[in-house]
Amino acid sequence: MIDCHVHTDRCGHAEGSLDEFVSAAARAGVTTMAFTDHLPLPEGYPEGYSMTASELPLYAAEVLRVARERAGDPPEVLLGIEADWLPGREAELIGVLGAYPFDVVLGSVHFIDEWAFDDPELTDGYAHWDVTGLWERYFADVVMAASSGLFDVMAHPDLVKKFCFRPETEPLDLYAEVAQAFARADVAVEVSTAGLRKPCAEIYPSLAFLKACRAQGVAATVGSDAHRPDEVGFRLGEAREMLRAAGYESIVVYRGRRPEEHAL
Ligand code: ZN
Ligand code: FE
Ligand code: FE
Ligand code: ZN
Repeated sequence: MIDCHVHTDRCGHAEGSLDEFVSAAARAGVTTMAFTDHLPLPEGYPEGYSMTASELPLYAAEVLRVARERAGDPPEVLLGIEADWLPGREAELIGVLGAYPFDVVLGSVHFIDEWAFDDPELTDGYAHWDVTGLWERYFADVVMAASSGLFDVMAHPDLVKKFCFRPETEPLDLYAEVAQAFARADVAVEVSTAGLRKPCAEIYPSLAFLKACRAQGVAATVGSDAHRPDEVGFRLGEAREMLRAAGYESIVVYRGRRPEEHAL
């Protein structure tokens, strides 16, 4: 069992220390896990969405220490990071990502014009959008993020469905465009069971989206996006079933920012 998206209490909105997450993973039978805490956001963004800048070196050192100490003892521990796509800040991001020996960098779109559309406290913002326009804008940002070359994996790629503000029929043409952009940019798509814990009650992305990725030859990763130790490995069997239903026979794990295939 592989879980490539796990947070710790450093991010300000998760519970549990790194050691508690590793113990929970071992108990759950996880063989490989990537810690992917939220990269510090620039000044001006609210606190509590990410670790602070001063914690980043401590985070990296702690994950690397645990990875070293556990070498050979499951779970294998990888050093990842979840980074927000913030247009205009690419140069900053290149600098900070290059300063640490990350195994994997997840790219996420959590903000549309600085509105954290996935924050349950900020759902009033949906009233300012018509759903079709919002989805087009969200996926345009996802495509820009993927095409930036900064990220290995696009995390929870249809997060915009989280609170069930969604078009009546799935935008298959849009999915096809996004999948083509992923293929061109050589990024993987994340199959995330976090959506099962949210109002949308669905894996991110939908089966139709995942099929579009498969048709374009886009590689896939899996993750729980755990924010509590008991969420490590959360319903990953269902992620595997969805991958098979979409035609996948393998997933990838990034080590040293290079994808390695694992049979499903
Ligand atoms: Zn988080
Ligand atoms: Fe996220
Ligand atoms: Fe996350
Ligand atoms: Zn996340």
